[in-house]
Amino acid sequence: MDKEWIDTGKKFIMNTYSSFPIVLEKGEGCYVYDKEGKRYLDFVSGIAVNSLGYSNEDFVNALNEQLKKIHHCSNLYWSEPTITLAKLLVENSAFDKVFFCNSGTESVEAGLKLSRKYGNLKRGEECYEIITMKNSFHGRTFGSITATGQEKYQNGFGPLLPGVKYAPYNDFETLKSMVNKNTCAIVVEAIQGEGGICPAEKEYLKNIRKLCDELDIVLIFDEVQSGIGRTGKLFAYEIYNIEPDIICLAKGLGGGFPIGAMMAVEKIANVFEPGNHASTFGGNPLACTAGITVLNKLLNEGVLQNVEKQGEYLKKKLLSLKEKVSFIKDVRGYGLMQGIEIEETSPSDIINKCIEKGLLLVGAGANVIRFVPPLTIKEKEIDEAVEILGEVLSLVK
Ligand SMILES: *Cc1c(COP(=O)(O)O)cnc(C)c1O
Repeated sequence: MDKEWIDTGKKFIMNTYSSFPIVLEKGEGCYVYDKEGKRYLDFVSGIAVNSLGYSNEDFVNALNEQLKKIHHCSNLYWSEPTITLAKLLVENSAFDKVFFCNSGTESVEAGLKLSRKYGNLKRGEECYEIITMKNSFHGRTFGSITATGQEKYQNGFGPLLPGVKYAPYNDFETLKSMVNKNTCAIVVEAIQGEGGICPAEKEYLKNIRKLCDELDIVLIFDEVQSGIGRTGKLFAYEIYNIEPDIICLAKGLGGGFPIGAMMAVEKIANVFEPGNHASTFGGNPLACTAGITVLNKLLNEGVLQNVEKQGEYLKKKLLSLKEKVSFIKDVRGYGLMQGIEIEETSPSDIINKCIEKGLLLVGAGANVIRFVPPLTIKEKEIDEAVEILGEVLSLVK
């Protein structure tokens, strides 16, 4: 049954993903079910997206209610959910204004455009250079693949956006040597996600913040993956006690409903004028209702505390696995954004065997297995995941 659907999918859908041979049909809490009724514990959550898991009652009800009222209305008019979500985001962050879009890559594009406009106005037309980090990931549109410091995402698509340079991650001195009077923005992930769950060092981000302040360079944090509670804080920059000028958000913001957001501090946000940037679907009332529900759960119903608590528990369990398994080289991450670095054996082999045993996991970078379950995950589900992983690890070597 699954196979027939997959064959049809392969016939009609462009071949941009090497998907696992599973057709997912429904979900409940932190579990998903395929068409044949097999159950999987989900430590992928649509790649750090399904913040509240599946079939969350309040999420379903809020979206149903909004669907009956108005589902789309364009930014030519105002709508209550859009305004409410913007207010919630601003009041709980270091930023003053929001631009809504539909995905991570769009939030990065919006941030790049805003920082160029700011540089252009404040420091002249030549001020358009952007520095991003090697091994980063920022999305798949042209600006974002250019910002992404990994050639494998760029090959075959040139020429890329001019004026983008790449600095090695966690190396402030090299970054500083690349900055000049035409540098308008520095883009960094507080925790590199796709690059392999690599957290930035505190001193490094502190130094970048200071440099940007001195030279009026816009500091952009891409928190598409690390933002919205994933690390146990609403935003990963809070872990570092450093506030960027612009933040890019998407993935977990809508709990599985597509939405992205780019936020900025006032002096930068204010350089956008009507006509400078836009999105037909951006700020869609249904998507914003999803965002409001996620933020309310995080902030007012204990989900953020759950991430902190279960994140520590998951880390502890992974560290104790590392004690027992010689080829686990490292355990990294914050909250429910954790990774284990694997030596000598292939992560995809391990992931495939876990799937067979009913646990969904996803890789990150070349040799890391990533753990990004719903933010509502419980201790016994972490126990179950680590037990399955432990069994598989004892089999592979
Ligand atoms: C996933 C991701 C993106 C791209 O998001 P899309 O919604 O796939 O466009 C950008 N930046 C980071 C850090 C991401 O993890």
